Amino acid sequence: MINVIANNLAHIQQRIGEYEKKYAKPSSSVRLLAVSKGQSLEKIHQAMAAGQHYFGENYLQEALDKITTIHNNNIAWHFIGQVQSNKTRKIAEHFSWVHSVCDPDIAQRLNDQRPPHLPPLSICIQVKISQETAKAGAEFDHVLSLAEYCATLPNLRLRGLMAIPVITQHFIEQRAEYYKLRLMHELLYNHGLHLDTLSMGMTHDMEAAIAENSNMVRIGSGIFGDRK
Ligand SMILES: *Cc1c(COP(=O)(O)O)cnc(C)c1O
Repeated sequence: MINVIANNLAHIQQRIGEYEKKYAKPSSSVRLLAVSKGQSLEKIHQAMAAGQHYFGENYLQEALDKITTIHNNNIAWHFIGQVQSNKTRKIAEHFSWVHSVCDPDIAQRLNDQRPPHLPPLSICIQVKISQETAKAGAEFDHVLSLAEYCATLPNLRLRGLMAIPVITQHFIEQRAEYYKLRLMHELLYNHGLHLDTLSMGMTHDMEAAIAENSNMVRIGSGIFGDRK
């Protein structure tokens, strides 16, 4: 049987390479996060066998079931869903990254609950780049102070920014959305916060995100097919 997942992964990696070239980004600078929410263990195993290391999950219980069953220290699990304060302990214990930190309370809890034997938890601040969506995220006006605060927490490592834009099929509109996050990233840089990650781009808007400097794309259906 042809391994569909391995083929899809290779195809996505090839497209990432093409976009890096097209938009003059360093080759191999864009990391691929495989978003496995709603996907079976079998498919995740196939992706691992094909060399995929970074996996993203949105729902804590589903993620914990997978993480404890797979039990592989070479896999970096990224939490990309909404973080509720009663879930921070398990997230701090089981994940390498959290992309969806929106407020100082959550940051503080993740910091305090990060087990001392683990390296600092890598985090991104989720920014609300569009008012039209009900999506979570820090308001633009709050991002700088939140970033400065997170940078003081010793058990967190502030890596970058993340956003979920309004869904549109129009390339220019997709770029316009991500341009806002790119500017915010520059603003933080000019304030001395040298973050190394822009987490943006999903299956339908990966090219626009890379054009606007994304260096971590979060791809689900493009790798695993439709979700349950
Ligand atoms: C589900 C999800 C993705 C992946 O979306 P696809 O369209 O399947 O590529 C990326 N980021 C977040 C935050 C998600 O919830």
